[in-house]
Amino acid sequence: MSFASLKSQRQSKASRSYVTSTDNSKESHSTTIPKAIHSNDPTTSTPSNGGTVYHGIPENVEVRVSEISGRGLWARNLIKAGSIIISLRPYSFALASRYLDSHCSSCTATSNSGLLRCTRCRTVRYCNTTCQTNDWSLHRLECSALTKWAKSAPSKNLSVPSDAVRCLGRILWQKKKEGFDSSWSKEIDALQSHRHSLEPRVVENNTHLAHSLVRYLGLSSPGDLSEFGILSAGDFADLISRFVTNTFALTSPSLTPVGVSVSPLVALFNHSCDPGAVIVFPRSSRNPVEEPQMQVIALRDISPNEEILTSYIDTTLPRSLRQAALKETYDFTCQCELCHDDNIIDPRESIWCPKSCGGMCPAPSDGENESETYQCVKCRAVVATPTFIMDALHIGQEALAKATSIQDTDHDKALQLTTNIIPRLVSAGLTPSCHPLLPLIGLHKSLLLSSLSADMAQELLDETIRIAAKHYMGLSAILRDGHPVRAVALAELGKLLAVDEPCPVTSPPTNIASLPSGPARLKAAYETLVRARHELMIGFGRNNDGGELGRNIRETVVSLEKELGVWTQGIHNTLQDLLNSSRK
Ligand SMILES: [Zn+2]
Ligand SMILES: [Zn+2]
Ligand SMILES: [Zn+2]
Ligand SMILES: [Zn+2]
Repeated sequence: MSFASLKSQRQSKASRSYVTSTDNSKESHSTTIPKAIHSNDPTTSTPSNGGTVYHGIPENVEVRVSEISGRGLWARNLIKAGSIIISLRPYSFALASRYLDSHCSSCTATSNSGLLRCTRCRTVRYCNTTCQTNDWSLHRLECSALTKWAKSAPSKNLSVPSDAVRCLGRILWQKKKEGFDSSWSKEIDALQSHRHSLEPRVVENNTHLAHSLVRYLGLSSPGDLSEFGILSAGDFADLISRFVTNTFALTSPSLTPVGVSVSPLVALFNHSCDPGAVIVFPRSSRNPVEEPQMQVIALRDISPNEEILTSYIDTTLPRSLRQAALKETYDFTCQCELCHDDNIIDPRESIWCPKSCGGMCPAPSDGENESETYQCVKCRAVVATPTFIMDALHIGQEALAKATSIQDTDHDKALQLTTNIIPRLVSAGLTPSCHPLLPLIGLHKSLLLSSLSADMAQELLDETIRIAAKHYMGLSAILRDGHPVRAVALAELGKLLAVDEPCPVTSPPTNIASLPSGPARLKAAYETLVRARHELMIGFGRNNDGGELGRNIRETVVSLEKELGVWTQGIHNTLQDLLNSSRK
């Protein structure tokens, strides 16, 4: 498994600030608006820790330091939902090993017509010689490191170092190239490190990463790292820790994690479990030199003097799992509203009313005492069998862990697991947004999608559509309108509905709710895709036209319009014929 998929979002924060306030000439604006450190402010351009000035900060955003969350990025003016807040090429990135053959190592584009492989290392590929030339200044160094690594690899599947090791290598080579006093190097050095407060498991992973990096760089001892400006073991541990806590997943336009990336500016955003902004790679640039383009997009309107927050973790997880993930990698306890409000029912931990009134009850949990009662928030009906539901939750959790771990190695067994467990959780009363039913539905969907083929049976397609609809239903109970995860799920549902039916059902099916067929199905596809396009325009940026996926959906919508037009015309003609014949 790649580093990228382990960390689908990243970043650091907390109280230790590298840009300590040397700006004593001004008072804080107020208790709620922290002191601004704007890149244009000459009085703050030489703070004690090396004068980090961030490049690429747009006009309407500024760095401020607050006592609670340390440095962060704040809106100066109103930012509308769907606006691109920041757009930049990451300082460094690397593709996960499994994507090196299918993606260009320079612009990360995929190609159907085949990519050119570097003839020396035979590891990386490029669209063309332009992409190769653009990457050459760093790949020149990387190329020989990759060649040496492959020669000494104990087995074929270990012949390429991980994306994390390759990305760290590129960071060090670039630092050397730019100069240790350059602003590039200073921005990297100013990333937050948590090496003094890491959990044992993280320390172990970091140590492993450090050993691999030394080997990859071809150094005989850590002492040789001085050529990269690393003068002590502490410096080296800081480098690794900074990298791990400040890495973002590099994702495809439909959010598949395909590698890792680093941007010191984007790393300044603080976290919320209900963020106002998201980080995506929409592939909206027409210029390969600018790709991969990392963008921060406003999910909702952000007010002037409001802190812009993104999420470091999967926000569909229930509170206990979110808190554990944040503590382990980023070493802080989230204080966001979602983590604090105890009154609301959280759809991530909810079951349907036992009397089926349409209301929801909180899902029973282990932490509570045994006599705890769980009631429907609408009709107050009491859940009679909390232990039965708790058992189902445990079994679901185990099945999720198992199916996730074998999804790539044993597809059929993973599919069998999800097929068996989902009905069990549904019959226990879990809502589609409840953990672990929601991730099981998502996994089941992706396993079904990979089973689809040109000669598939109608039932398989219909089953995939049903599960895709359920997945979207679960996500939309948690994520706000236009969240990219939700937008992609809706686009997937629409595309499935638009697939040509293998053999349209003519007689009503016996047991399960039937899906529309023929023109009615096309109409459902059309309406779903129009809605998906609206959501993509927010989550992937209005000025990007919803990114590559948004443009793709627009084309499908246009062709469906034509197809529906033909159907409508066909029905119209038939009716006309009937009328004409009845007049005769
Ligand atoms: Zn390329
Ligand atoms: Zn090469
Ligand atoms: Zn939170
Ligand atoms: Zn009820």
